Amino acid sequence: MTQHFLVSAAARSLSLAKVMRLSDEEARSTFAKIRWAANDGKPSCPKCGSVTVYACHSRPIFKCKDCKAQFSVTSGTIFADRKMSVRDILAAIAIFTNGAKGYSALQLSRDLDCQYKTAFVLAHKLREAMAAESKTRTLRGHVEIDGAYFGGHVAPANRKEDRADLRFKHNQSGKRKVVVAMRERKGKTLTAVFGAEHESIQTIRERVESGTMIYADEASAWDALHARYDAKRINHSVSFSDDGACTNQAESFFSRLRRAEIGTHHHISGQYLNAYASEMAWREDNRRIPNGSQFLMIAGAVMAAPVSSQWCGYWQRSAKA
Ligand SMILES: [Zn+2]
Repeated sequence: MTQHFLVSAAARSLSLAKVMRLSDEEARSTFAKIRWAANDGKPSCPKCGSVTVYACHSRPIFKCKDCKAQFSVTSGTIFADRKMSVRDILAAIAIFTNGAKGYSALQLSRDLDCQYKTAFVLAHKLREAMAAESKTRTLRGHVEIDGAYFGGHVAPANRKEDRADLRFKHNQSGKRKVVVAMRERKGKTLTAVFGAEHESIQTIRERVESGTMIYADEASAWDALHARYDAKRINHSVSFSDDGACTNQAESFFSRLRRAEIGTHHHISGQYLNAYASEMAWREDNRRIPNGSQFLMIAGAVMAAPVSSQWCGYWQRSAKA
């Protein structure tokens, strides 16, 4: 029996350097192997699903024997209206994968010598595919809950006498948001974005199964969780860990998200905060998996994802608005 491509040594060690050395033909064949991995890389028709497909001799396209549709290796994926070569798409995914603190669109556009807009949409499509696998996930066992605030920075005025007291709500920008992380000990992480911590209780009830042991800090917002869960609380002004009560795993996730904000993106707009938070949750959960395997997970997810409603034609829509 032939070995499944995705678990082969060749696939696991598919690095950026190897991707860049692929010929056009090899790049298309690699794309096909990832996309149609379940069928050993043999194409199936994106229209009718038939596997009776002919390769065209003169051009790199396929023709379906059953419905007569013509399609390329990227047809029916989010790369269908691509502005990049197949090799550049694979390279973009490899570069994005390697960014442990995230990757900015500006940097990606410089790396690939493509327009900022192309890189921006591509990076968001990758984030969307990474987030898709956790959409319906629920958590159980031992789960840490914590919140951290992002965005809405107000620069203090130059002169001391002109500076407003930023502790008052009317002096704040109103753009500050809280990311709430739910993290299984030795398990998966879920994130959601709210205006304030207490608004997250309903979402936590939906995503964390009853019977779960909850760990949270002393913030009063989490008092409401005691009605449904067994909960251990830790007062961070006294200690960070006490008899198993701690939120250290949730804090590790926030440390990664904070490094992505400060080191990579510099500013994260509230509109995209959830996209960045779930991207960093994916990276945190999969951090021990080799880069080559991470590349295949992201590439496989993004090729299997339906054409994005949010990001398909994004700039065309915003230009009209
Ligand atoms: Zn067909």
